[in-house]
Amino acid sequence: MAGDPGDAPEVGGGGIRSVLTTASLVAPSGDEVQFREIDGKIIGLYFAANWYPKCEAFTPVLAAAYEQLKERGAGFEVVLVSCDEDRPSFERFHGTMPWPAVPFGDLSCKKRLSERFQVEGIPRLVVLAPDGGAVVHPDAADLVHRYGERAFPFTAARVAELEADDQRKYASQTLEKLFSVSGKEYVMNSGNNEKAGLQVPVSSLVGKTVGLYFSANHCAPCIKFTTKLAAIYSSLRGKAEDFEVVYVPMDREEDGYLRSCGDMPWLALPYDGAPSRALARYFDVREIPTLVVVGPDGRTVTRDGRNLVNLYFDMAFPFTDAQIRLLQEAEDEAAKEYPRSLRHRGHRHELSIVSEKSGGGPYICCECEEQGLGWAYQCIACGYEIHLRCGQNAEGGSAGTA
Ligand SMILES: [Zn+2]
Ligand SMILES: [Zn+2]
Repeated sequence: MAGDPGDAPEVGGGGIRSVLTTASLVAPSGDEVQFREIDGKIIGLYFAANWYPKCEAFTPVLAAAYEQLKERGAGFEVVLVSCDEDRPSFERFHGTMPWPAVPFGDLSCKKRLSERFQVEGIPRLVVLAPDGGAVVHPDAADLVHRYGERAFPFTAARVAELEADDQRKYASQTLEKLFSVSGKEYVMNSGNNEKAGLQVPVSSLVGKTVGLYFSANHCAPCIKFTTKLAAIYSSLRGKAEDFEVVYVPMDREEDGYLRSCGDMPWLALPYDGAPSRALARYFDVREIPTLVVVGPDGRTVTRDGRNLVNLYFDMAFPFTDAQIRLLQEAEDEAAKEYPRSLRHRGHRHELSIVSEKSGGGPYICCECEEQGLGWAYQCIACGYEIHLRCGQNAEGGSAGTA
């Protein structure tokens, strides 16, 4: 069996060796790893770099799945293909992983792998079949994020199974089932008043529109969004709309969780990582803040509640497609009243009105720094965009040709 350090790589010799054209692999400890230790296994080539936050975030997710598969004896191995620029960073990064790597010094092997699998973005997890090294999945990183070890063996058939499973779960989703992950039949009052900490039965939420708010105190955008959501919450409750919000804590420390709760006038899951993580995985929450909206029938209305709140404030309620369509139609109608172009004090060129159909897309308004979508006044050359209302309200805005 090949694998002695002195052996020439068996290029084209079949199996994984025809792909991994390096003499041997290296363990996180620096020890050499023989190829026979990974022969016959499904291989995940993990392209990553220490300096990239997304890789830093993905490594522990992959490691958790890897350990579980190892325990199960599943025949899976990961090989790091580092994109690090110097040896100390490589060694530090590799030291956080339980699997072998292509030696840092084998530049030609790393280059060949990058070219062969057309690696442009990292993290990337190319899954290869045990015999022959055929590609089983060109990038299983998303699958691992979403399903953890359940994604194994990453084949199209497995992916179809997992997705069908999801569809079944989503179709029969109820609030009670969602919250059963916490093992409790209640959530708690948060907020800064005498009711804080009191239990509220999940059954009392049934029939309402419920926002599941994934957030954390250490996250600045979360704190900003909490303020906005709180304003909308109180306005909707003032109108007696059946709306409730439940905080799903993504906090790393209980102190942060308690501080978050103090700022929130709604309900909260207890501080216990497991149910929050289970809900985050179930809804495929990748970043915070995220607002998932569940309708009165217990089914998911949207996972995009954050954008809808940013764009439409309390008018987004009840967050359904039908409501959003109405709002967009109202905007199209209102836009007819606006001048086709104008000069605005914030920009030296004339701005033209654009809609989603004429080149407008999602943007951040240069006047109020809030999100916008579709209709805008735009200087296409400079990428300057503002809301129609911000062009109109601002002093110094003057109509051009209508
Ligand atoms: Zn604006
Ligand atoms: Zn300009």
